[in-house]
Amino acid sequence: MPPVFRFAPSPNGYLHLGHAYSALLNAELARQSGGRLLLRIEDIDRARCKPAFEAAIYVDLAWLGIEWETPVRRQSEHFEQYRAATDRLNAQGLLYPSFESRAEIARLVAAEQIRGKWPHDPDGVPLYPGIARSLTPSAVAELRRAGAPTALRLDMAEASRRAGALQWTEFGAGPSGESGAVAARPEAWGDVILARKEIPTSYHLSVVIDDALQGVTDVVRGQDLFWSTSVHRLLQTLLGLEPPTYRHHPLLRDEGGGKLAKSTGATALRELRARGAGPADIRRMIGLPAA
Ligand code: GLU
Repeated sequence: MPPVFRFAPSPNGYLHLGHAYSALLNAELARQSGGRLLLRIEDIDRARCKPAFEAAIYVDLAWLGIEWETPVRRQSEHFEQYRAATDRLNAQGLLYPSFESRAEIARLVAAEQIRGKWPHDPDGVPLYPGIARSLTPSAVAELRRAGAPTALRLDMAEASRRAGALQWTEFGAGPSGESGAVAARPEAWGDVILARKEIPTSYHLSVVIDDALQGVTDVVRGQDLFWSTSVHRLLQTLLGLEPPTYRHHPLLRDEGGGKLAKSTGATALRELRARGAGPADIRRMIGLPAA
């Protein structure tokens, strides 16, 4: 069976040089190994994703000379599959509904921080401080009756206990050079949301379901997602899915050393194209050899 790679952008902005690097690396690794390359549109966030950005993804990738298989999987067309996965985790007693708004969570974190240091996840976001896990069934029913929107969170302590020690195979490197067999640390993320209030899924859940459904064998993506892999390994284990191998690549930085953002036009591929750059210039700019 040939290896299966994928490039999985979110259409919430125009692709920039960092995306070009990731897409071209996937294409190159697929070519070298006689593998397949899939394109997946990660558009679960209906408020932030726009058809114009999706259309631009196809234009930019084709311009770079990348070929992908069709049909392209669009996550927004598969909410039922994600819901089925949360149903399974729910049936295992691993999810609980939480009702707090962002503002309430921020207030709870601030209160914790007065008492002492409150832990943050690998992305620097404070862990969920809420008490929803210990709400009684009747309190939950009452909140539901009152129409409170609900997110579903993973009971991380229980889920990690059941899954036991996990690791993944890393062919790239983590932020501190982690490589080879990397020990997963899902607890560092706390009780992550698996289904958002307004969307029946989340990045973590849909990426894991899709990689498995699409038979992806080699995940190649930016280092910013390195520690997310801990959560992905946990979900794969709980849902009985075969894990791919991972290669996290360094992120391209802007001149100030910051992360390239979709919102800053200067490195957007369409902007560079409009200014006369060709695909060969892009390869040079991101340090890839000529095609
Ligand atoms: N959709 C994610 C992004 O655009 C990438 C997901 C992944 O490669 O796992 O950042």
